[in-house]
Amino acid sequence: MADVQCVTCGQAGEVITDTLFMGKLEAEIKTKVCKPCWKKWEGMRVMVINEYQVNLGEESGRELVKKQMKAFLKLGEQSEQVDTAKIDQNFRPQA
Ligand SMILES: [Zn+2]
Repeated sequence: MADVQCVTCGQAGEVITDTLFMGKLEAEIKTKVCKPCWKKWEGMRVMVINEYQVNLGEESGRELVKKQMKAFLKLGEQSEQVDTAKIDQNFRPQA
């Protein structure tokens, strides 16, 4: 299987084979992001939800998570400014 040239870590990495349930973004993520980076985001996502007390039942909550995801994975427009300060501050990489 071919590797994906990952925009998040800048290296060629393992392709994501799982279904992500990301709707329109699914194809984009799978062509741009490697599996290890996606796994990192999955851990990060939990933290984002806790940190911002996101209610995923609300559209605004889902939007916030999506924005954070794009920033973390380095997807989307460069001009798109996302406030990740809160996350950067609290982010502790897992050993
Ligand atoms: Zn990567």
